[in-house]
Amino acid sequence: MDSHTPSTDLHDLDRRYFLHPFTALAEHERNGPLVMVKGEGVWLEDTSGRRYIDSMAGLWCVNVGYGRREIADTLHAQAMRLPYYHSFSSMATDTPILLAEKLIKLSPVPMSKVFFGNSGSDANDTQVKLVWYYNNARGLPQKKKIIARNRGYHGVTMVATGLTGLPGMHAGFDLPLPFIRHTTAPHRLWQAEPGQSDAAFVARLAADLESLILAEGPDTVAAMIMEPVMGAGGVIVPPPGYYAAMQAVLDKYDVLLIADEVICGFGRLGTQFGSEKMGMRPDLMTVAKGITSAYVPLSACIISEKIWQGLLLGGEKYGAFAHGYTYSAHPLAAAVALTNLQIIEDEGLVAQAGARGELMHRLLRDAFADHPAVGEIRGVGLMGAVEFVALRDPATPFDPSLKVAARIARAALEEGLITRALPQGDSISFSPPFVISEDEVVEMVARARRAVDKVFTQLHAEGHWKG
Ligand code: PLP
Repeated sequence: MDSHTPSTDLHDLDRRYFLHPFTALAEHERNGPLVMVKGEGVWLEDTSGRRYIDSMAGLWCVNVGYGRREIADTLHAQAMRLPYYHSFSSMATDTPILLAEKLIKLSPVPMSKVFFGNSGSDANDTQVKLVWYYNNARGLPQKKKIIARNRGYHGVTMVATGLTGLPGMHAGFDLPLPFIRHTTAPHRLWQAEPGQSDAAFVARLAADLESLILAEGPDTVAAMIMEPVMGAGGVIVPPPGYYAAMQAVLDKYDVLLIADEVICGFGRLGTQFGSEKMGMRPDLMTVAKGITSAYVPLSACIISEKIWQGLLLGGEKYGAFAHGYTYSAHPLAAAVALTNLQIIEDEGLVAQAGARGELMHRLLRDAFADHPAVGEIRGVGLMGAVEFVALRDPATPFDPSLKVAARIARAALEEGLITRALPQGDSISFSPPFVISEDEVVEMVARARRAVDKVFTQLHAEGHWKG
């Protein structure tokens, strides 16, 4: 921040002029923003000089941490050499070409081509357009419906919001869309029968999917989109065998699989891609966030040879491929991605995310497993969540109006910790930069536990929780 701009002015200006994304607007008008001005590693600093551990890496994205000089240097050098040129009509710049090659080489299953966009949302919209174009090209114009999952999060453009399975995001926006269907989330706490084995739960989830496809008519169902591990929907890790069972159903009915790797891609689960960790075989993959560690916006649709051949066929029918953004294949963003991926490789950050993730899960279990209001502690790699319930057995949610998770997130801020209350149920999440040290993991969990204790003491005093 310009040191001549007093923070009170910023707060006032923000309230007057800035429409914030995903924000309770009336509350914000009263309370104003929390303005961050600096970042280093896993730490953020606000206008008052207060420091926070950012246990969310921004929005699950600043994977190499804040304050990376190599990335700043890349930005400067690329902006001086060539800040922008487009890639329409066979034009190109160098860095996106090199990045496309890198992405194909890193892919967990054989892939063929890369289309670049600017956000996870627009990339998921593109995936749906690609799938439709592919099916039109191969003479299956009725095969258009897309299946997603309840609790899945795929973004906020029109189609991506439709794919998202969080009803709070459809309300007031005339969504979902008629060609999108949702199936059961693999969320043991709320969806499995008490005592149900993993195998029986998986069989039920696959049967739900098959019933849905049969009810819609398999010749109308084009693709299914899944995050390897759901992020915003609750950090939901499916039970073992889930993807093999789901994939068998998709294969049976010629339904494509889109892996939404926007959070999981580039190391968060301790493997390069979530698909690798979870045993998915996608036809199309969406990446964003961690591709640049969010230093600049960039996303990509990575597609298989089968889809590519369909696009070529489409060209014969429809002419030139008529899709793309002004900022598709932005050379600055691609240069940053190349540097970011090189940092991840040079510093062994994929393996480090796995190792720090194991420590984080052990400490979360030590801190929360015995807490009477903790219903589930979930996660894999550097993605974790703790879900709070009014009653453990049988699992009973808190009254949503108590906003338990949101209160915990606010109390965490007072402890100098940024966590996130996820939009459905009462989960708080952890998804720190891969560069978090062991001591910082310990500190992060300790601060979270203090925040939780503070809130449950208050809930008890208010008569909302018996303890
Ligand atoms: N897909 C997943 C799995 C995400 O987590 C997100 C964002 O959180 C998106 C898509 C949308 O990405 P963006 O916010 O860049 O549009």
